[in-house]
Amino acid sequence: MIDVESIRRDFPILGREVYGKPLVYLDNAATTQKPQCVIDSISDAYRNVNANVHRGIHFLSQEATDLMEAAREKVRQFINAGSTQEVVFTRGTTESINLLASSFAAAFLKEGDEVIISGMEHHSNIVPWQIQASRYGFVLKIIPVTDRGELDMEALGALLSAKTKLISITHVSNVLGTVNDISGIIAMAHSHGIPVAVDGAQSVPHIKVDVQALGADFYAFSGHKIYGPTGIGVLYGRRELLEKMPPYQGGGEMIRKVTFDGTTYNELPYKFEAGTPDYIGSIALAKALDYVDAIGMDAIADYEKSLCGYALERLESIPGMRIIGRSAHRSGVISFLVGNIHPSDMGTLLDRLGIAVRTGHHCAEPLMDRLGIPGTVRASFSFYNTRAEIETLAAGIERVSKMF
Ligand code: PLP
Repeated sequence: MIDVESIRRDFPILGREVYGKPLVYLDNAATTQKPQCVIDSISDAYRNVNANVHRGIHFLSQEATDLMEAAREKVRQFINAGSTQEVVFTRGTTESINLLASSFAAAFLKEGDEVIISGMEHHSNIVPWQIQASRYGFVLKIIPVTDRGELDMEALGALLSAKTKLISITHVSNVLGTVNDISGIIAMAHSHGIPVAVDGAQSVPHIKVDVQALGADFYAFSGHKIYGPTGIGVLYGRRELLEKMPPYQGGGEMIRKVTFDGTTYNELPYKFEAGTPDYIGSIALAKALDYVDAIGMDAIADYEKSLCGYALERLESIPGMRIIGRSAHRSGVISFLVGNIHPSDMGTLLDRLGIAVRTGHHCAEPLMDRLGIPGTVRASFSFYNTRAEIETLAAGIERVSKMF
């Protein structure tokens, strides 16, 4: 059971007012707010243990290194990776997928090969593949999205061939809220010997993710979407694949030996972590993961499911309401349009009522084209949101609707 009132007291920003109204923060898919313990862990780390990691023999450097490596172990446990060597720290999901696309393509892709993504991907799981496709000549194939906002699994089956070298797909859509059948996709792909990369930006904060139970070959997520700081994220990769992939960037820390005749690279995961890493960010991310673990991912998933179900029901009672994305398997996000009201008008007017939602294409322009809409209004939820906030949202939408 979640004690939402007590949880809210952990997040100082939730006590803010905007335009003289209590803040109703429903933009959690873009970024989540931070509990005091995460905020404190950043200033504590700067105040007490700041020193560059991995390079120093002095006390502070070793302490900072230990804390960063403890953070890696925390991430490993959190997603149940087999080894900390499979946990690469990045700046976030975007960098994780860019690293993956760049290094995977260099190791495994050539002209005529195919990589499958889907029609509901965020730009960060489209554009990195397009960049590498133009370099290596492989072809991107797209799993179509049905009218309900689900992946067309039959079409996926038909896309698989001996040319397919990777499927890279989102676990949860940041627009539709659809939870894709990742286990089913991985089982299908693996039966053809094809690895699967998962964009977990919108899943890790909401549902328990076990990369080994899923069988994911790669899994990417962002710290800031799971109550951690900005600038830190994770790429999980199976060791056997990461070993074969060349470094993404060159510089300090990722090398074993450098000479002008050639360079050998460090072991995993450091091979992929060139330069001074955001060690303060990893320490604070671990604190955020401790925080959600203390609440419990199952309790979080149950609470958010019930909140989201309540919100769907309440919003559907509003005349002219059109919910975008009708999957029965959903999480965290509700996108909608009301009558002919432009999403940005709705968002701007809700903002004046203190309600923070996101409007626009949500970095998923191909999905907007598929749905034939310019954008949506998106409310996205966290375990710190309440039914009262849903009521405020619904009343706000009703008020805005009457103005048009
Ligand atoms: N993938 C999905 C599904 C997302 O929703 C987002 C961010 O909204 C990203 C990737 C990119 O995350 P970041 O900007 O933290 O790198």
